[in-house]
Amino acid sequence: MHTMWKGSISFGLVTIPIKLFAATENKDIKMRQLHKEDHSPIKYEKKCTACEETLEQKDIVKAYEYEPNKFVELEKDELEALAKEQTKSIEIMDFVHLSEVDPIYFDRSYFIGPGENGAKPYSLLKTAMEESGKIGIAKVMIRSKQHLAVVRVYDKGLLLETIHFPDEVRNIDLVPEIPEEIDLNEKELKMAVQLIEQLTTEFDPENYKDDYREALMEAIQSKVKGEQIKVAKQRPKADVVDLMDALQASIDDTKPKKKKKKTTTRKKKASSE
Ligand SMILES: [Zn+2]
Repeated sequence: MHTMWKGSISFGLVTIPIKLFAATENKDIKMRQLHKEDHSPIKYEKKCTACEETLEQKDIVKAYEYEPNKFVELEKDELEALAKEQTKSIEIMDFVHLSEVDPIYFDRSYFIGPGENGAKPYSLLKTAMEESGKIGIAKVMIRSKQHLAVVRVYDKGLLLETIHFPDEVRNIDLVPEIPEEIDLNEKELKMAVQLIEQLTTEFDPENYKDDYREALMEAIQSKVKGEQIKVAKQRPKADVVDLMDALQASIDDTKPKKKKKKTTTRKKKASSE
């Protein structure tokens, strides 16, 4: 696996040489863009909006637009010097409980591997965190951006998860029309809770798959073979308008005795948080 970052983690005066590795990968099916006429791949050219000259990387600089159409250029050396000040060191500032960090904060995951001579302090931190049940909060510079991160035990090793700074998380008050005080029918509420209980299972990520990606790949393969794409007809969903009727029908439909025979739609519902 490709090392994407080398540096150290420290807590107190203990320093652990480490390496970071991307822990997740995107499985999206990549599409190319072609010229409709002759099916040739297209390419992007960077052009100056004033003189229309086609530019190469060496002709391009970075700048910040501090007022409309007013720019201050930041030279590569200046950006690098600023980044260097934030040394290649991850300092654990605090330890907290994982449950205190709302999942909205989580961004990207990186496996932490020990660097040279790092095995012993690595094991020490991992075992100590395991025993205390806590996770570390730290700051890290990755690709010229400072991230807040948590360091936690994952399986047999350690994981670094970048998390958003509080000002990067939007306020839910921006969402219009979220009801705050609505009188609910006791019976409907009871039935909704019962329905949730009937659909409750243990979370096993292996139960879920990317249906869209599979269907798309199948469609691509039939097109390569020169076949027409077959789109399976959607099973029509019963149109139950009354909340109570919908609840009752769902409860009947998901009676525990039928539990073994789960349908994909039901699994999907259970996975959406
Ligand atoms: Zn120009």
